[in-house]
Amino acid sequence: MKKIAKINSKEKERRNIIANQTNLYIAFLLKIPTLYSTQTILTSNAQPILHMSLRISALASWSTGNVTYIETETTKILLDAWLSGKKIEQSLNNLNRKIEEISNIFITHEHIDHIRSAGILNRRFGTKIIGNEKTLSSSGFFTATKRDNPYGKEFLEPGKAMRVGDIEVKAFKTSHDTACSQFYTFKHQEKKIACLTDTGNITPEIIEEIKDSNILLIESNHDVDMLKHGSRPESNKQRILSDHGHLSNVQCAEYLSQIITPRTHTIILGHLSHDHNTKELAYETISSHLEKYHQNLRKNLHLFVADADENSALLEA
Ligand SMILES: [Zn+2]
Ligand SMILES: [Zn+2]
Repeated sequence: MKKIAKINSKEKERRNIIANQTNLYIAFLLKIPTLYSTQTILTSNAQPILHMSLRISALASWSTGNVTYIETETTKILLDAWLSGKKIEQSLNNLNRKIEEISNIFITHEHIDHIRSAGILNRRFGTKIIGNEKTLSSSGFFTATKRDNPYGKEFLEPGKAMRVGDIEVKAFKTSHDTACSQFYTFKHQEKKIACLTDTGNITPEIIEEIKDSNILLIESNHDVDMLKHGSRPESNKQRILSDHGHLSNVQCAEYLSQIITPRTHTIILGHLSHDHNTKELAYETISSHLEKYHQNLRKNLHLFVADADENSALLEA
């Protein structure tokens, strides 16, 4: 009897996920504004998914700050760490996860919107910091004393891979105005997640690396007109628009049309500029482009915009 009850509960959960995914796809087609929220597929109080798989939650992905959670059954890691330690803890609690379970933080680059809490998590929760040598040196982690980062750090250079538990993590160079920015792919069994933000362009080599991802978190930073008419200094606008800046909504849409394959089932738009973009504009630009060129893609392609400081649901690759 016990076994039957367990199967039923799993089946119920599976059906809930399918129902929610279907709703989101319908929202994608109909452009229902209320579903721009990241809370759509599973609520923050949803029961944990029990079977072996690779999952992601964007805890925050905005130009003001970035932190992403990736997990399998036995391995829990973060990508970047901007939110306060307390807020990260709270976001993980929303997903029924504990901050103490996080073994590593992978750092993309030394801009403050990506590293703010990495040192705190290292000291308080023993979370190891991983990034390439130039980035960690520029972040101040490399020169820190053992007292500052007692749980250590490890280098992962662009083009190299490492294994953390049962996740294979691979780093690739991005085009950004820092010492040596990089992005990561996360692979477990046959599933793959790619998280690519803070880059002025995407090379054909990178497209090849990420096009078989099941889930892609990608930057849709700004609307070019909003940026051009904005109040920032001209030099700052040129930096954002350059090959070492950020991807615009249109660039993101055009790259996506080369990246999406039938394996891709979820696109998370992230790192939106708080003053030169809106969730609606990013969603509209990308969804209208995809509808135009990709009508025959998987019928359950999900597209949504990450939030500035509210965690998304835990999405399964
Ligand atoms: Zn950034
Ligand atoms: Zn940056």
